[in-house]
Amino acid sequence: MTAIVWIRKDLRLHDNPGLYHTAETGKVLPVYIFDEDDKIGSAQKWFLHHALESFQKRLKSAGSELLILSGKPSEILPDIVEKYEADSIHWNRQYEPAVFNRDREIGESLHKNGISVNTYEGRLLLPPWDVKKNNGDPYKVFTPFYKALQKHDIPQALPAVKNIEPASFNKRDSLSLDDLKLLPEINWTSGMEKRWTPSEEAAVRRFNAFLDKKLKVYKSKRDFPSEEASSALSPYFALGLLSVRSVYHSIKKSAEAAGEPFIRQLVWRDFAYSLITHFPETKTDPMNEQFKSFKWMDESDQLKAWKHGKTGFPIVDAGMRELWTTGYMHNRVRMITGSFLTKDLLIHWREGADWFDDTLVDADVANNVMGWQWVAGSGADASPFFRIFNPTTQSSKFDPNGEYIRQWIPELKHMPTKHIHDPSSAPDDVLEEAGVQIGRDYPEPIVDHKAARQRALDHYDDVKKG
Ligand SMILES: Cc1cc2nc3c(=O)[nH]c(=O)nc-3n(C[C@H](O)[C@H](O)[C@H](O)COP(=O)(O)OP(=O)(O)OC[C@H]3O[C@@H](n4cnc5c(N)ncnc54)[C@H](O)[C@@H]3O)c2cc1C
Repeated sequence: MTAIVWIRKDLRLHDNPGLYHTAETGKVLPVYIFDEDDKIGSAQKWFLHHALESFQKRLKSAGSELLILSGKPSEILPDIVEKYEADSIHWNRQYEPAVFNRDREIGESLHKNGISVNTYEGRLLLPPWDVKKNNGDPYKVFTPFYKALQKHDIPQALPAVKNIEPASFNKRDSLSLDDLKLLPEINWTSGMEKRWTPSEEAAVRRFNAFLDKKLKVYKSKRDFPSEEASSALSPYFALGLLSVRSVYHSIKKSAEAAGEPFIRQLVWRDFAYSLITHFPETKTDPMNEQFKSFKWMDESDQLKAWKHGKTGFPIVDAGMRELWTTGYMHNRVRMITGSFLTKDLLIHWREGADWFDDTLVDADVANNVMGWQWVAGSGADASPFFRIFNPTTQSSKFDPNGEYIRQWIPELKHMPTKHIHDPSSAPDDVLEEAGVQIGRDYPEPIVDHKAARQRALDHYDDVKKG
């Protein structure tokens, strides 16, 4: 009999429980369904195209082939189950609220029709309902969540699937990868092509290089964007080219103590999934209900300046340009640009989250929503609203030599380090020597930070008054 494995954000052969257990069951039919309703952003579509291409090759090397379809899984899956006389279906769970509910309904309906439905944990260290308080409530604060998670055993990673007994299917039933039209019509992807190789092999290579060379300096250097000291594994986790459990156990095995700060970040990811599972409304609404009445501003010109890296605050602009060019932004800079949008400009965090969703190759609903609610002050365990980042101070602290700024803002390349964080306040002769005319070569700051900070605090006071 045929066993279907529904491939989604788990484009890998190693530690892929859905694929592994299907291969144990009998003849395997791997199916990928592109569903427009999943709303994958433009940058991640590019990554997905290449990740699927490489996954097809990986599957072929194990003896199998991917059936690619497009449409609604709830309509397509029952059809292929019937057409190929499958008696079981397997998938790794996804937890974006709408997707999780959709999949549960699909599972229930197939089960009613006598199909064996099997779902697995292939995305997280532990399923989001495993780590709870003693009274059964989900955690809203990270540190107790982290401590509670450590009391659990994290299941070992499964071996890579090497030999698949393929179920035959009619090749005319399958779309080609190009039919999915994941690549943009106008080519704006060269920066992403330079930075990323979207394949399972590249993900594993990147992790091994990180383990060998960077892990030991991760704790001391991860906050400095020009150091490139973090792993940059997030796009691989986002589409499942790399298993988080494999990474977890490799780190534990080779670097128990030095690995702790990195493991902590992996657990933040599990925490984000726990939050989105137990509080699905936080995808759009503030976790802290106080913020429901917060008065956001509707400033489309300022939003545009932020998106395009033209705010006149170099660290903000550098981050936004890194994002636009490479589909990635360093974590510290995500916090700075996020704080600037929500506090200096008072623009709703959803605008920022939507832009990140569209432009990040690592776009991930759970992490993105948690990150944005954190910077906006409305989230679980969030940075208190009144702690408003000063972009210039953050810049001097985390990009002390201005290297990151010079990399992404070539027009400021010749500014001396002393003035690069706040060029508009530099003396005229310094600007002249650096070849910068503020307002012509580089924008005037679009807000006065001091005044903007006070305005944000006033809005927050209104919320507190209720
Ligand atoms: C406003 C904002 C938006 C964000 N949006 C996303 C997003 O859409 N997708 C995304 O993957 N991350 C998001 N993050 C979290 C974090 O910035 C990225 O995961 C991290 O920068 C990825 O780089 P890295 O792989 O080098 O991380 P490393 O420091 O090497 O960490 C290893 C892994 O741990 C996880 N991780 C690290 N930091 C966090 C965190 N704060 N929250 C949750 N998981 C974390 C990631 O999977 C990451 O790949 C966001 C953060 C903020 C402040």
